Amino acid sequence: MVSKTVRLEVSTRGPKDVVDLTAQVAEAVRASGANEGMVHLFALGSTCALTTIELEAGLLEDFGKALDRLVPPRGNYAHALSGGDDNAASHIWSSVMGPSLAVPFEDGRLVLGTWQQIVLVELDVRPRRREVRLQVHPLA
Ligand code: ZN
Repeated sequence: MVSKTVRLEVSTRGPKDVVDLTAQVAEAVRASGANEGMVHLFALGSTCALTTIELEAGLLEDFGKALDRLVPPRGNYAHALSGGDDNAASHIWSSVMGPSLAVPFEDGRLVLGTWQQIVLVELDVRPRRREVRLQVHPLA
């Protein structure tokens, strides 16, 4: 079977915005007609990330605070001094979380935990338009 690439465009509202992509990914899998395999997502950009999370308001607040403890947004970062933007923490969070995600599907449906949603996390210091490439890889 042929891999199908789907291009998702996502508008984010700013730092730590978490955008649920689950329905769009599920629809891409359904539309591919594939029964069993893996769907791979890749986010373009070095200041955003893909992951899964439970979309619960308290948890999202905790998640943002935890990122700030892991890599404080303000600090003496070389990225700002060497002519980059003042968003070193954004880049580091992005690299730690990663730009891609692979999710299996069976019977044409995503295999996810009950509260597990597929999300793009905006990590830059301002709202952005993001692109995600999604490829459905059916098992041969
Ligand atoms: Zn930068």
